[in-house]
Amino acid sequence: MHEVSLSLQLAAAVSRAARGRQVRVVYVAIGALRQVVPEALEHAWVFTVRGTPLGAAELDLDLLPAVLTCDECGADTKLGPELGFGCAACGSAATRVVSGEQFTLTAIDIDIEKGTCDGTFPPT
Ligand SMILES: [Zn+2]
Repeated sequence: MHEVSLSLQLAAAVSRAARGRQVRVVYVAIGALRQVVPEALEHAWVFTVRGTPLGAAELDLDLLPAVLTCDECGADTKLGPELGFGCAACGSAATRVVSGEQFTLTAIDIDIEKGTCDGTFPPT
């Protein structure tokens, strides 16, 4: 269950970014090669934030496909579950993973009315 530790790390990062403000939605981009099970992460998140200031925050997961690029012909190959690591265009094995290993906190939605931020900047 590495989703539990991912969830704890995510909650820590969101807390730092929110600085006490009410968080509504947490947007995360996850590459296919991270082998994160979205349902398991959402489940872990609910238990991680229950009873904390992040208790009302929902996860919005954006699952990104893994992509290989070919050093021989330059073509990109989207990696499916049934495919190997060869180039789909020329069959070369000289490929590199260029996408799919992300685990990125991309944005958070803050509820301004319930938070301490009154819309002025910098916040006081
Ligand atoms: Zn190729």
